Amino acid sequence: MPLIYRAANVVEAQLIVDELQAGGMQAHVTGSYLSGAIGELPPSEVIGVWLLESQHEQRARDIIDAFEAGRRKPEQEWQCTRCAEWLGREFGACWQCGLTRPLSDS
Ligand SMILES: [Zn+2]
Repeated sequence: MPLIYRAANVVEAQLIVDELQAGGMQAHVTGSYLSGAIGELPPSEVIGVWLLESQHEQRARDIIDAFEAGRRKPEQEWQCTRCAEWLGREFGACWQCGLTRPLSDS
């Protein structure tokens, strides 16, 4: 059973498990039982996501890579200041309310 991900917290670990389950794979999280109250999350090295079926390891890593790539690029989207819709960077105006994209993304 290979360790395929070290999560920063239990929420992130669960996100990975959900992604893998969406891909038809089963994963198991270790270390989450160590977390006490909110705010006392254990250090990252104790939360591991383990793939139950090692033959799917490469596919699981591909899913995780895609998941992380998606999370690293929030700047590719902008949020409409009028209706709060999230839009892809390729859109120059909000498709929902028509607001023109602001010049600054921040
Ligand atoms: Zn809008």
